[in-house]
Amino acid sequence: MSCAKPDAAQDQLVQTIARFLAEKGVKTECPFCGHPTWSLLDKPDFRTALLSNAARSYGLYTLTCNNCGFVRSHLAHTIETYVATVKETNLRSDITGR
Ligand SMILES: [Zn+2]
Repeated sequence: MSCAKPDAAQDQLVQTIARFLAEKGVKTECPFCGHPTWSLLDKPDFRTALLSNAARSYGLYTLTCNNCGFVRSHLAHTIETYVATVKETNLRSDITGR
């Protein structure tokens, strides 16, 4: 269990999402105003949800444009799969030295 403060955890998550978006070639400028900076919507676990019906929902990380308030969401599963893959790759390189 992490003992990091919420602010540190959020900073880490924002950095992880920014790295994910950069590696995937996602544009960081707001599509409406062109502003380059975003904030993570800070629900308690930093996740929001997309409801497809009453019985099913999908975890999202939701970013808001710091200039115009435009809202964008990325599927949490996609980002978390990326994070797990990166950690596994780093762990493998730590073990093999490559
Ligand atoms: Zn904007």
